[in-house]
Amino acid sequence: MSETKPAKPQLLWVQTLIFSLTFLVAAIGVPWYSITVGFEWSAWVAFIVWYFATGMAITAGYHRLWSHNSYKAHPILRTMLALLGAAAIQNSIMVWASGHRDHHRHVDDDQHDPYSVRRGLWFSHMGWMLRDYPSGEVDMTNIPDIARDPIARFQHDYYIPLVLLMNFAPPLLMGFITGDYLANFLLMGVLRLVVTHHCTFFINSLAHYWGSQPYSDQCSARDNGWLALFTYGEGYHNYHHCFQTDYRNGIRWWHWDPTKWLIFTSSLAGLASDLRRIPQETINMAREEMAKKLQGSTG
Ligand SMILES: [Zn+2]
Ligand SMILES: [Zn+2]
Repeated sequence: MSETKPAKPQLLWVQTLIFSLTFLVAAIGVPWYSITVGFEWSAWVAFIVWYFATGMAITAGYHRLWSHNSYKAHPILRTMLALLGAAAIQNSIMVWASGHRDHHRHVDDDQHDPYSVRRGLWFSHMGWMLRDYPSGEVDMTNIPDIARDPIARFQHDYYIPLVLLMNFAPPLLMGFITGDYLANFLLMGVLRLVVTHHCTFFINSLAHYWGSQPYSDQCSARDNGWLALFTYGEGYHNYHHCFQTDYRNGIRWWHWDPTKWLIFTSSLAGLASDLRRIPQETINMAREEMAKKLQGSTG
């Protein structure tokens, strides 16, 4: 008698190819060009600007605005976040936010959290996107509010053309201005995409694995100031899972949270409003409860 192992869900070829090819070009093509030709400083500046713009479209837009409604954004800002978010290639706002709301609702539940860290660090980082897992099935009934947003709808309906436009046009434009198309394609196009991918994927993997739990140990989410540096401020993930409607993740003024600074600055410019903050007493209470619990378990 032969034992049959349950078959793995089908490999999703498009995702797998995008992740592998961009990674290979970033790991081999970028150092090769750097050694044989060399990059101008302008290509590095464009890389850094585009890294922040497209990464924070995910954290300030996809995450804190659309998934959590932690503030309101003017249509101009929503349009910018939707376009720049398409450049990050992490699926449409609607698909992303639906999965993310499932993540909060069913966190650490292997059947219903699309990127549960209990299934391993690799699974929560990238593995969940490479196969057709039942836990990753998209059910948009949890985003009726986003489905009513014409900007999010438009981005969903024209997602592929927008991805192509937002990934090819800016490096081409920089290439036209500076005369070096390949350098800008490699840095602003490919390296930026790969780095932004992993920096945002860390929030699902390392931010559920490495760090402290000052507010609650009811789920795996952690606070980690180091991780905040690489995640546009989303390293304060224990706080975020406790108080998901707060537009801030790092709540102290000195916490590295460029996403909260972007939202706050946008509000000064009249592009954002109704920034939601959890009252400090509520936050303090959660901290005290957790400290008591820890004392109880060690004392
Ligand atoms: Zn969240
Ligand atoms: Zn999380």
